[in-house]
Amino acid sequence: MHLTPQGTGWIEVITGCMFSGKTEELIRRLVRARYAKQEVRIFKPRIDTRYSEDEIVSHSRMSLRAHVVEKAEDVWRLGHGIQVVAVDEVQFFGAAIVPVVESLANSGSRVLVAGLDQDYRGEPFEPIPTLMAVAEFVTKNHAICMQCGNPADRSQRLVNRAERVLVGETESYEARCRRCFSPDLPGQIQQNLMYRPGDSV
Ligand code: ZN
Repeated sequence: MHLTPQGTGWIEVITGCMFSGKTEELIRRLVRARYAKQEVRIFKPRIDTRYSEDEIVSHSRMSLRAHVVEKAEDVWRLGHGIQVVAVDEVQFFGAAIVPVVESLANSGSRVLVAGLDQDYRGEPFEPIPTLMAVAEFVTKNHAICMQCGNPADRSQRLVNRAERVLVGETESYEARCRRCFSPDLPGQIQQNLMYRPGDSV
């Protein structure tokens, strides 16, 4: 048995909540590919403006050069035929990235995607759920709950805003575990109205 598929491409998903080290894990894998003299091309959506325009940068400031692209189709146009293709912050491309990632893998590329699997309400956040289903390899990273120290898989928003993602505003979030996570925005907390299993009704 081989550690990785032979004679075909494949898909690797790196997901988790904010502060779970997704981009660091992506960078770690890409650096190893570069050591092996593999051709690597990295993409990120234009919307992600934190730290640097044309690099992917982890919270611990590791960085690699990236192509900043507008649309999912650009990833196919510039990534087709490349041995190792990586897409960071994949949630910003929406569902259109799924056929691109599949086509790249079908045509022989190793495709790595990193992104959030849940939004700030704890709802599944496409396209990661679909990519997790079609990927050969899925890594779900955990952060540490900033309230209690449990493993955390949710991104708690601390400010009351309607957008699904607040770009570059990491100070507006905390990593939280299931117990400490509250999907209601500050000012709308209705915990007393929420039914919990075991409550008498
Ligand atoms: Zn907690």
